[in-house]
Amino acid sequence: MKEMLHWLDKRVQLTPESLAVETVSGEVITYRELREKAQDFAGKIKVHYSKKLTGQVAILAENSLDMVVAILGCTYLDCPLVLLNTKLSKKEWQYQVEDADVSLVICDSIYEEAVAEVTSDKVAVVCTSEIEKLSVVKTQFKTHIELSDVATLMYTSGTTGKAKAVEQSFENHWWSAISSALNLGIDTKDKWLVSLPLYHISGLSSLFKSLIYGMPILLMEKFDATFVHNAIMTKEVSIISVVSLTCKRLLEELGDDNYPSTFRCMLLGGGPAPLSLLEEAKEKQVPIFQTYGMTETCSQISTLAPTDAMDKIGSAGKPLFPAELEIRGKDGVLEPLTVGEIVVKGPMVALGYHNNSIATKESFRSNWLYTGDLGYVDNDGFLYVVDRRKDLIVSGGENVYPAEIENILLTHPLIKEAGVTGVPDEKWGSVPVAFVVSSQAINKKELEKFCKEKLATFKTPKDFCFVEALPRNATNKLVRHRLQELYLER
Ligand code: ATP
Ligand code: MG
Repeated sequence: MKEMLHWLDKRVQLTPESLAVETVSGEVITYRELREKAQDFAGKIKVHYSKKLTGQVAILAENSLDMVVAILGCTYLDCPLVLLNTKLSKKEWQYQVEDADVSLVICDSIYEEAVAEVTSDKVAVVCTSEIEKLSVVKTQFKTHIELSDVATLMYTSGTTGKAKAVEQSFENHWWSAISSALNLGIDTKDKWLVSLPLYHISGLSSLFKSLIYGMPILLMEKFDATFVHNAIMTKEVSIISVVSLTCKRLLEELGDDNYPSTFRCMLLGGGPAPLSLLEEAKEKQVPIFQTYGMTETCSQISTLAPTDAMDKIGSAGKPLFPAELEIRGKDGVLEPLTVGEIVVKGPMVALGYHNNSIATKESFRSNWLYTGDLGYVDNDGFLYVVDRRKDLIVSGGENVYPAEIENILLTHPLIKEAGVTGVPDEKWGSVPVAFVVSSQAINKKELEKFCKEKLATFKTPKDFCFVEALPRNATNKLVRHRLQELYLER
């Protein structure tokens, strides 16, 4: 049993009056104030909802100071916190509340009715504004964090199937924060802008980093390119986490301008990054750090170090200090430059999936996490993520990676978004077809010629479908298996 002083208490001991969180509307809160609010919150739950603390507590909210207080308040209770995605459907909330054994849902008032409607009578649903009104009762709180305890149950994005609840321990969050710091460094002037939801690991990990590093975060309810741009230019934001879509918007906003030297890191992850985007960023001298990670690794597990950022474009770097990474095939570890499954190990790798021993057994084996992602390492040990194993197309015995074809399509000046999937074919077994969102009509033949110039014939899509939008999940990730269904329905 390893324990540590509660991170918020420790932070208050060290720097009580430092800025902890700042919001877009100008609210500011110090660590001392934040602890007071978090403990008041926890006290109210403990006293007024004691009968409802039979299972887990869930939070369903948009990024806000109230949500930060609720999350940190729950770390003083003796149960894991379940983070629910606000963009899901009622049915999905119903499933996750049951699946994660939740007995109390704390939510923003706009979700209260919908959640209450789909959850059983045994589950209490209460909105943050109601908790605010309750009387404060001073009680004793735990002073220490038991590192092996499950801190959070966080659902994966549900890109390849039903979302799974990942059991993330305090120890996982601790090592995630420390590993990131060992790579990116900590600067006393750092301020991390958080525009990704706190119910995903990219957002939540920044909140824990704030406690552990003593670094303020600037919290946004949702991404707004103009605001983020101005915050980098004038509010001394030094680090921001982005996905390729938001990165693209920021580069457009930047135009021919340059970021100030106070801005030192744009951490880009969550999905494949088109090479064209990375090259544009390189040209504009934007300090992009490609990173690879997932809910199961509590955020980054591999990140391109600052010194290599410009030479190894397209790479997600080397595994962070406490982590290990291997590329495995059927017969074990593969040679450099050979594509196989990315398998990782380290103290940030989560404990398993909640209530899902089959999936846990499949992915978590002898301390290694089988990520289900395909990639390779180069001769210098740098990781290149190629695609998801489930999306691989095998055509006439050749491996075809949809992401490679999408990358090529995205270099076409009229193509805004591209998605590729495999469809059954009598002769080849499976062939790639492309879905395209374009700013103007493009001739199919012309597009085929464009691809053939850059891709082998077996990789050139056999058909192109022009659509208004691509199927994306609540996290905005492309759902490729939906593309296949859409194609077959046509
Ligand atoms: P589900 O597991 O439910 O299908 P998901 O895998 O999309 O959903 P997350 O944990 O949010 O859920 O996302 C992690 C995944 O995102 C990784 O496994 C990988 O497929 C993809 N990803 C993350 N970083 C990168 C990267 N740098 N390049 C390519 N893909 C990435
Ligand atoms: Mg996944």
